[in-house]
Amino acid sequence: MSRTALVTGGSRGIGAAVALRLAREGADVAITYARDGEAARDVVRKIEATGRRGLALRADAADAAACAEAVGLAAEGLGRLDVLVNNAGVGVLGPLDGLTLDEVDRVLAVNVRGVFLASQAAAGRMERGGRIVSIGSCVTQRVPGPGATLYAMSKSALTGLTKALARELGERGITANVVHPGPVDTAMNPADGPHADAQRAGTAVGRYGRPEEVAAMVAFLAGDEAAYVTGAEFSVDGGHAA
Ligand code: NAP
Repeated sequence: MSRTALVTGGSRGIGAAVALRLAREGADVAITYARDGEAARDVVRKIEATGRRGLALRADAADAAACAEAVGLAAEGLGRLDVLVNNAGVGVLGPLDGLTLDEVDRVLAVNVRGVFLASQAAAGRMERGGRIVSIGSCVTQRVPGPGATLYAMSKSALTGLTKALARELGERGITANVVHPGPVDTAMNPADGPHADAQRAGTAVGRYGRPEEVAAMVAFLAGDEAAYVTGAEFSVDGGHAA
């Protein structure tokens, strides 16, 4: 039986690259999106072109009920759930004194609460061999400058969640890991954006990463060979933390 995966925020960027990589490695893949249904359906067409099944689910990670519902719909639509990739995230940056309560609530809802609720729902359905991979950020390892308080706080929560999930789910043969990308060229952080040169300079290799470079690490952690890897953090950041 083929493996099945749910990738949150899979309609573009890192999530789309992860979804396609998992499909190419033989998984049936569901993705969630918040707004852009056409982009999500395009990713599903690409998944199907690999010969695997694809499913697009509208589920705003800021909506608590939608997070668990999406896990249920993915498991029912694909027959089971082996892999959850918590990728959906929002990056709200700016000076500490300018961040509003609404922004704080939204970032914590999407980047933290949504990840918790999806992981909780997925863990309840996964069998031995299950995999939870969350997408953190290089700013949990090193904050290169001002303006990242809210985002860094939210992504740092995933490290605690991941270690605790590993301890809680280890006996059931389910692993949990977190991947910390450095600057990766996506709509969220375009390589020609206003702060791109500073981000490039902050890496050891002097360039942005590609979504596929993050997807390769996620695919390893989601696979059979990573059964003894859990509760761990992996930087795919061009040496940003070095
Ligand atoms: P992106 O290009 O903005 O793509 C985000 C994806 O998530 C889209 O598919 C989007 O779909 C979906 N999404 C956004 N808000 C959502 C919500 N509330 N509920 C469900 N889906 C939602 O972002 P990315 O750069 O690929 O980032 C992916 C992850 O990597 C994020 O967690 C981000 O924090 C993390 N990360 C990115 C970088 C970077 O440099 N790019 C670096 C470190 C970490 P819709 O368009 O339909 O909303």
